[in-house]
Amino acid sequence: MTTTSTPAFVRELPGAETPRWGYWIRFGETGIAPGEETGILQSPGAWPEQAMPLGMWQGLPVAMAHESGEASWPPARDWLACLPAAQADLLATALQVSAWARDHRFCGRCGTPMQRLSHEFAMQCKACGHRSYPRISPCIITLVTHGRDLLLARNARFPARRYSTLAGFIEPGETAEDAVRREVHEEVGVEVGRVSFFRSQSWPFPHSLMLGFFAEAASRRIRIDGVEIADAAWFTPRHLPELPPSHSISRQLIETHLSAVAMR
Ligand SMILES: [Zn+2]
Repeated sequence: MTTTSTPAFVRELPGAETPRWGYWIRFGETGIAPGEETGILQSPGAWPEQAMPLGMWQGLPVAMAHESGEASWPPARDWLACLPAAQADLLATALQVSAWARDHRFCGRCGTPMQRLSHEFAMQCKACGHRSYPRISPCIITLVTHGRDLLLARNARFPARRYSTLAGFIEPGETAEDAVRREVHEEVGVEVGRVSFFRSQSWPFPHSLMLGFFAEAASRRIRIDGVEIADAAWFTPRHLPELPPSHSISRQLIETHLSAVAMR
Protein backbone atom coordinates (compact mmCIF):
# COMPACT_ATOMS: atom_id res chain seq x y z
CA MET A 1 0.00 0.00 0.00
CA THR A 2 1.31 3.44 -0.89
CA THR A 3 0.71 6.44 1.30
CA THR A 4 0.36 8.87 -1.63
CA SER A 5 -2.74 9.27 -3.79
CA THR A 6 -0.91 7.88 -6.85
CA PRO A 7 -2.40 4.48 -7.62
CA ALA A 8 0.04 1.56 -7.23
CA PHE A 9 -0.93 0.17 -10.64
CA VAL A 10 -1.13 2.35 -13.76
CA ARG A 11 -2.16 0.86 -17.12
CA GLU A 12 0.51 2.76 -19.04
CA LEU A 13 2.71 0.48 -21.10
CA PRO A 14 6.47 1.10 -20.86
CA GLY A 15 6.93 0.91 -24.70
CA ALA A 16 9.27 -1.12 -26.90
CA GLU A 17 12.38 1.03 -26.29
CA THR A 18 12.31 0.52 -22.49
CA PRO A 19 14.60 -2.20 -21.07
CA ARG A 20 12.66 -5.41 -20.30
CA TRP A 21 13.12 -5.15 -16.57
CA GLY A 22 10.93 -4.55 -13.54
CA TYR A 23 8.36 -6.33 -11.38
CA TRP A 24 6.83 -9.46 -12.82
CA ILE A 25 4.19 -12.13 -12.18
CA ARG A 26 4.80 -15.83 -12.82
CA PHE A 27 1.81 -17.56 -14.43
CA GLY A 28 1.80 -21.38 -14.38
CA GLU A 29 -0.61 -23.68 -16.20
CA THR A 30 -2.96 -23.93 -13.23
CA GLY A 31 -1.89 -21.24 -10.78
CA ILE A 32 0.16 -18.15 -10.03
CA ALA A 33 3.42 -18.16 -8.08
CA PRO A 34 3.49 -16.48 -4.67
CA GLY A 35 5.54 -13.28 -4.79
CA GLU A 36 8.91 -12.89 -3.12
CA GLU A 37 7.50 -10.18 -0.86
CA THR A 38 3.69 -10.12 -0.59
CA GLY A 39 0.96 -11.16 -3.01
CA ILE A 40 1.92 -12.18 -6.54
CA LEU A 41 4.76 -9.74 -7.36
CA GLN A 42 8.27 -11.02 -7.96
CA SER A 43 11.04 -8.60 -6.95
CA PRO A 44 12.28 -6.30 -9.75
CA GLY A 45 14.64 -8.04 -12.15
CA ALA A 46 15.22 -8.92 -15.81
CA TRP A 47 12.06 -10.34 -17.43
CA PRO A 48 11.98 -13.72 -19.18
CA GLU A 49 12.01 -13.65 -23.01
CA GLN A 50 8.23 -14.08 -23.48
CA ALA A 51 7.16 -11.60 -20.77
CA MET A 52 4.17 -9.40 -21.65
CA PRO A 53 4.22 -5.86 -20.17
CA LEU A 54 1.05 -4.84 -18.28
CA GLY A 55 1.82 -1.31 -17.10
CA MET A 56 3.62 0.38 -14.22
CA TRP A 57 3.66 -0.79 -10.60
CA GLN A 58 4.81 1.81 -8.07
CA GLY A 59 6.69 3.61 -10.82
CA LEU A 60 8.44 0.53 -12.30
CA PRO A 61 7.39 -1.54 -15.33
CA VAL A 62 5.42 -4.70 -14.50
CA ALA A 63 4.94 -7.74 -16.73
CA MET A 64 3.53 -11.25 -16.70
CA ALA A 65 5.27 -14.37 -17.99
CA HIS A 66 3.96 -17.89 -18.65
CA GLU A 67 5.81 -21.04 -17.59
CA SER A 68 4.73 -24.58 -16.74
CA GLY A 69 4.60 -23.69 -13.04
CA GLU A 70 4.04 -25.87 -9.99
CA ALA A 71 0.92 -27.67 -8.81
CA SER A 72 1.16 -25.94 -5.41
CA TRP A 73 0.65 -22.44 -6.90
CA PRO A 74 -2.82 -21.14 -5.96
CA PRO A 75 -5.32 -20.59 -8.80
CA ALA A 76 -6.22 -17.04 -9.87
CA ARG A 77 -9.67 -17.17 -8.20
CA ASP A 78 -8.05 -17.89 -4.82
CA TRP A 79 -5.61 -14.99 -5.28
CA LEU A 80 -8.42 -12.58 -6.19
CA ALA A 81 -10.23 -13.49 -2.97
CA CYS A 82 -7.31 -12.44 -0.76
CA LEU A 83 -5.15 -9.85 -2.59
CA PRO A 84 -5.27 -6.14 -1.67
CA ALA A 85 -7.36 -4.12 -4.17
CA ALA A 86 -4.49 -2.75 -6.30
CA GLN A 87 -2.93 -6.20 -6.79
CA ALA A 88 -6.36 -7.66 -7.56
CA ASP A 89 -6.73 -5.01 -10.31
CA LEU A 90 -3.28 -5.93 -11.64
CA LEU A 91 -4.16 -9.63 -11.66
CA ALA A 92 -7.52 -8.99 -13.38
CA THR A 93 -5.66 -7.01 -16.05
CA ALA A 94 -3.07 -9.78 -16.51
CA LEU A 95 -5.74 -12.47 -16.87
CA GLN A 96 -7.75 -10.51 -19.43
CA VAL A 97 -4.79 -9.28 -21.48
CA SER A 98 -3.23 -12.75 -21.67
CA ALA A 99 -6.55 -14.37 -22.68
CA TRP A 100 -6.95 -11.73 -25.38
CA ALA A 101 -3.38 -12.20 -26.70
CA ARG A 102 -3.94 -15.98 -26.82
CA ASP A 103 -7.30 -15.75 -28.61
CA HIS A 104 -6.51 -12.99 -31.13
CA ARG A 105 -3.30 -14.20 -32.75
CA PHE A 106 -4.84 -13.99 -36.24
CA CYS A 107 -6.78 -11.20 -37.89
CA GLY A 108 -10.52 -11.82 -37.56
CA ARG A 109 -11.08 -10.02 -40.86
CA CYS A 110 -8.44 -11.53 -43.20
CA GLY A 111 -6.66 -14.30 -41.23
CA THR A 112 -3.13 -12.81 -41.28
CA PRO A 113 -1.04 -13.24 -38.06
CA MET A 114 -1.49 -10.17 -35.82
CA GLN A 115 1.30 -8.02 -34.37
CA ARG A 116 1.18 -6.67 -30.84
CA LEU A 117 1.59 -2.88 -30.51
CA SER A 118 4.00 -1.88 -27.77
CA HIS A 119 2.40 1.34 -26.50
CA GLU A 120 -1.16 0.12 -25.87
CA PHE A 121 -3.18 -3.06 -25.47
CA ALA A 122 -3.80 -3.52 -29.20
CA MET A 123 -3.01 -5.97 -31.99
CA GLN A 124 -2.68 -4.80 -35.56
CA CYS A 125 -2.97 -6.65 -38.85
CA LYS A 126 -0.24 -5.55 -41.26
CA ALA A 127 -2.19 -6.85 -44.27
CA CYS A 128 -5.56 -5.07 -43.85
CA GLY A 129 -4.97 -2.62 -40.95
CA HIS A 130 -7.63 -4.17 -38.69
CA ARG A 131 -6.99 -3.55 -34.98
CA SER A 132 -8.12 -5.70 -32.11
CA TYR A 133 -8.40 -4.57 -28.50
CA PRO A 134 -8.97 -6.68 -25.38
CA ARG A 135 -12.60 -7.75 -25.22
CA ILE A 136 -14.61 -6.66 -22.20
CA SER A 137 -18.05 -8.24 -21.79
CA PRO A 138 -20.52 -6.21 -19.73
CA CYS A 139 -22.86 -8.16 -17.44
CA ILE A 140 -25.52 -6.94 -15.06
CA ILE A 141 -25.65 -8.24 -11.52
CA THR A 142 -28.64 -7.21 -9.49
CA LEU A 143 -30.09 -7.46 -6.01
CA VAL A 144 -33.88 -7.50 -6.25
CA THR A 145 -35.52 -6.11 -3.13
CA HIS A 146 -39.08 -5.65 -1.83
CA GLY A 147 -39.07 -3.39 1.22
CA ARG A 148 -36.56 -5.01 3.58
CA ASP A 149 -36.68 -8.40 1.84
CA LEU A 150 -34.10 -9.72 -0.62
CA LEU A 151 -34.67 -12.04 -3.56
CA LEU A 152 -31.76 -14.49 -3.76
CA ALA A 153 -31.29 -17.44 -6.07
CA ARG A 154 -29.33 -20.64 -6.13
CA ASN A 155 -27.50 -21.45 -9.34
CA ALA A 156 -27.19 -25.17 -10.10
CA ARG A 157 -23.37 -24.72 -10.15
CA PHE A 158 -23.16 -23.16 -6.65
CA PRO A 159 -22.07 -24.92 -3.44
CA ALA A 160 -25.07 -26.70 -1.83
CA ARG A 161 -26.59 -23.99 0.40
CA ARG A 162 -25.33 -20.82 -1.23
CA TYR A 163 -27.71 -18.20 -2.64
CA SER A 164 -26.73 -15.09 -4.56
CA THR A 165 -27.96 -12.16 -6.61
CA LEU A 166 -29.07 -12.54 -10.25
CA ALA A 167 -26.68 -11.91 -13.14
CA GLY A 168 -26.51 -12.11 -16.92
CA PHE A 169 -24.82 -10.76 -20.03
CA ILE A 170 -26.06 -7.61 -21.74
CA GLU A 171 -27.30 -8.39 -25.26
CA PRO A 172 -26.17 -6.38 -28.32
CA GLY A 173 -28.12 -3.13 -28.54
CA GLU A 174 -29.53 -3.43 -25.02
CA THR A 175 -29.13 -0.90 -22.18
CA ALA A 176 -27.89 -2.15 -18.81
CA GLU A 177 -31.21 -1.15 -17.19
CA ASP A 178 -33.21 -3.13 -19.76
CA ALA A 179 -30.89 -6.10 -19.22
CA VAL A 180 -31.70 -5.97 -15.48
CA ARG A 181 -35.44 -6.09 -16.22
CA ARG A 182 -35.08 -8.87 -18.81
CA GLU A 183 -32.78 -11.09 -16.73
CA VAL A 184 -34.92 -10.80 -13.60
CA HIS A 185 -38.04 -11.63 -15.59
CA GLU A 186 -36.39 -14.55 -17.41
CA GLU A 187 -34.76 -16.11 -14.35
CA VAL A 188 -37.37 -15.63 -11.62
CA GLY A 189 -40.48 -14.23 -13.37
CA VAL A 190 -40.56 -11.06 -11.24
CA GLU A 191 -41.43 -7.62 -12.66
CA VAL A 192 -39.02 -4.88 -11.64
CA GLY A 193 -39.82 -1.20 -11.03
CA ARG A 194 -37.06 1.23 -10.14
CA VAL A 195 -33.50 0.22 -11.09
CA SER A 196 -30.48 2.08 -9.65
CA PHE A 197 -26.76 1.70 -10.33
CA PHE A 198 -24.51 0.64 -7.44
CA ARG A 199 -20.94 0.16 -8.70
CA SER A 200 -18.96 -2.07 -11.07
CA GLN A 201 -16.35 -4.78 -10.67
CA SER A 202 -13.99 -6.41 -13.16
CA TRP A 203 -14.47 -10.19 -13.23
CA PRO A 204 -11.73 -11.70 -15.39
CA PHE A 205 -13.27 -15.16 -16.03
CA PRO A 206 -12.67 -14.64 -18.84
CA HIS A 207 -13.42 -10.94 -19.44
CA SER A 208 -16.57 -9.73 -17.72
CA LEU A 209 -17.31 -6.32 -16.32
CA MET A 210 -20.02 -6.72 -13.69
CA LEU A 211 -22.36 -3.70 -13.47
CA GLY A 212 -24.11 -3.83 -10.10
CA PHE A 213 -27.72 -2.63 -9.72
CA PHE A 214 -30.41 -2.55 -7.09
CA ALA A 215 -33.83 -3.42 -8.51
CA GLU A 216 -37.13 -2.84 -6.70
CA ALA A 217 -39.62 -5.64 -7.29
CA ALA A 218 -43.11 -4.67 -8.44
CA SER A 219 -44.40 -8.20 -7.71
CA ARG A 220 -43.39 -10.97 -5.28
CA ARG A 221 -44.50 -14.13 -7.05
CA ILE A 222 -41.46 -16.19 -8.12
CA ARG A 223 -41.42 -18.46 -11.15
CA ILE A 224 -37.93 -19.92 -11.71
CA ASP A 225 -36.64 -20.87 -15.14
CA GLY A 226 -35.46 -24.29 -13.87
CA VAL A 227 -32.39 -24.20 -16.15
CA GLU A 228 -29.84 -21.71 -14.81
CA ILE A 229 -31.66 -21.22 -11.51
CA ALA A 230 -32.25 -24.24 -9.26
CA ASP A 231 -34.13 -22.29 -6.57
CA ALA A 232 -35.03 -18.70 -5.69
CA ALA A 233 -36.77 -17.24 -2.65
CA TRP A 234 -37.45 -14.08 -0.68
CA PHE A 235 -35.33 -13.76 2.46
CA THR A 236 -35.68 -11.38 5.39
CA PRO A 237 -32.54 -9.65 6.75
CA ARG A 238 -32.80 -11.84 9.91
CA HIS A 239 -32.95 -15.19 8.12
CA LEU A 240 -30.38 -15.35 5.35
CA PRO A 241 -28.90 -18.35 3.53
CA GLU A 242 -25.17 -18.89 2.94
CA LEU A 243 -23.99 -15.82 0.97
CA PRO A 244 -21.31 -15.30 -1.72
CA PRO A 245 -17.73 -14.38 -0.62
CA SER A 246 -17.08 -10.89 0.72
CA HIS A 247 -14.88 -9.70 -2.17
CA SER A 248 -17.69 -10.27 -4.71
CA ILE A 249 -19.89 -7.41 -5.88
CA SER A 250 -22.85 -9.71 -5.20
CA ARG A 251 -22.02 -9.75 -1.49
CA GLN A 252 -21.39 -5.97 -1.51
CA LEU A 253 -24.88 -5.40 -2.95
CA ILE A 254 -26.39 -7.58 -0.22
CA GLU A 255 -24.39 -5.95 2.61
CA THR A 256 -25.24 -2.44 1.37
CA HIS A 257 -28.96 -3.26 1.39
CA LEU A 258 -28.71 -4.85 4.87
CA SER A 259 -26.96 -1.75 6.26
CA ALA A 260 -29.56 0.55 4.69
CA VAL A 261 -32.58 -1.32 6.11
CA ALA A 262 -30.94 -1.75 9.54
CA MET A 263 -30.81 2.07 9.86
CA ARG A 264 -34.50 2.59 9.07
ZN1 LIG B 1 -6.31 -8.42 -41.54
